[in-house]
Amino acid sequence: MAGSKVGKRAVVIGAGIGGLAAAQALTVSFDEVVVLEQDSLPAVPIPRTGVPQGRHPHGLLAGGLKALEDLLPGFGRDLAQAGAVKLNPGYDVLFERLGQGQSPRQRFEWHSYAMSRPLLELTLRRRVEQHRKITIRGGCRVMEILGASGSGIVIGVSYQTRDRAPESTRTPTTLLADLVVDASAHGTLTLAFLKATGRALPKETVIGMETHYSSAVFSAPVAAGEFKIMLTYPKPPVQLRYGYLYAAENNRWQVLLIGRGNDVPPFDGDGFLKYAQQIEPSSIYDAIKNATRVGEITQFGFRESVWRHFGRLRDLPRGLLPIGDAICRLNPVYGQGMTVALQEANMLQQLLQLQSSEKDPLAKLGQTFLANAELLIEDAWETSALPDLAYPETRGERPLDLEEKLRFRGAVSRIAARDAAFHELFSAIRHLLKPLKALEEPEILRRVQEEMAAV
Ligand SMILES: Cc1cc2nc3c(=O)[nH]c(=O)nc-3n(C[C@H](O)[C@H](O)[C@H](O)COP(=O)(O)OP(=O)(O)OC[C@H]3O[C@@H](n4cnc5c(N)ncnc54)[C@H](O)[C@@H]3O)c2cc1C
Repeated sequence: MAGSKVGKRAVVIGAGIGGLAAAQALTVSFDEVVVLEQDSLPAVPIPRTGVPQGRHPHGLLAGGLKALEDLLPGFGRDLAQAGAVKLNPGYDVLFERLGQGQSPRQRFEWHSYAMSRPLLELTLRRRVEQHRKITIRGGCRVMEILGASGSGIVIGVSYQTRDRAPESTRTPTTLLADLVVDASAHGTLTLAFLKATGRALPKETVIGMETHYSSAVFSAPVAAGEFKIMLTYPKPPVQLRYGYLYAAENNRWQVLLIGRGNDVPPFDGDGFLKYAQQIEPSSIYDAIKNATRVGEITQFGFRESVWRHFGRLRDLPRGLLPIGDAICRLNPVYGQGMTVALQEANMLQQLLQLQSSEKDPLAKLGQTFLANAELLIEDAWETSALPDLAYPETRGERPLDLEEKLRFRGAVSRIAARDAAFHELFSAIRHLLKPLKALEEPEILRRVQEEMAAV
């Protein structure tokens, strides 16, 4: 299908995870793809201003790695060559929750990698920019999505370059395009375009919970035993603290402490260690208590998960697609955001291949993509929303059968802690490799119901 055309030029706003993956996807059907990124793009893996979350550990779920491999065959090899740590989620990850034993340790058929977010992004950018159709322009801030007067059809963007002249005197540049993909994470340009053209804004589902991150990097000696990742989850609704430890490139370890509500993990060295010690079980504290911290402790506050239901809008402008966090920002504690953005990019590629045989391939592209994205996001949302809603202080509409759903999830989790096959299935669901409905198979359902009845 390569070479079948949907349009001449596509413009992507933002060179984050979703934007880079979308650019690669668009090459199947466009002559030219231009990615405009507001930040100057570093040649080495360091955090940058436009991605403030990049200072905090980012787990790449196996579903995200698969989406990357589908888009860019051999991407795992690129990651390994760049220094990422290959890991088997069944064997190399310690998953703990108070009162629940460690799941059977076993090697799964699938794997993932651990690394810093800047290394993942740089490896992806290096790979994507090799494509002859793709140009990535750093230091270009998109100011507006442009429409043809009267029709409301998107025709391109206007952007400003970072130069020495004061911002008010810089003249915006216009870049025409047949398709604009908004991978800016905030999505405000898309919302502004909908408003300016008199269209309805998408309805939002919001789940509000104050979540606070404190992250630090440690060098050896980290006493993680054979584990490459340690995840200590709280037991809702009483426990509020999480702790994560991730291996990273260059023999570094990333440690993340998470508190909910008014429970804010400290950002001074002693306070950080003390907080880690109070997380039960204290495996992460035990691993880092004699390790050397490298650099500052950084903090991040997350207020709410927001899902904008663009896919339910009747009147979408031709030539405009939001993707990634611009559609749905998920609570980061479940590590799903990048995977969802990557799976959306993958789905976009498949859709472009299908639509390109249509007489007017762009006519229904936006609507179909966004309707599919609604379905794609559902599992990730359900997986993270449920545990969030178990906390009484969480804001958001609770399903009528919340109690039943939480009991079901609790039973699945308990069986997974003692049964190897179940553990692999549940892990594959958590890694967004398998759909949630895999739990509805009759034999699985029977076992879960038995477990629910036993408690
Ligand atoms: C603290 C924290 C921890 C997280 N941990 C994980 C994790 O462990 N695993 C996981 O999968 N996800 C995690 N996430 C979520 C993940 O970071 C996002 O879901 C993911 O980066 C979304 O990709 P995106 O392309 O939509 O946005 P981003 O990757 O954020 O990229 C947006 C890009 O757009 C650029 N941009 C914005 N406006 C403009 C403009 N006007 N013009 C030009 N460029 C612009 C920005 O500079 C940026 O480069 C975490 C998030 C947070 C906040």
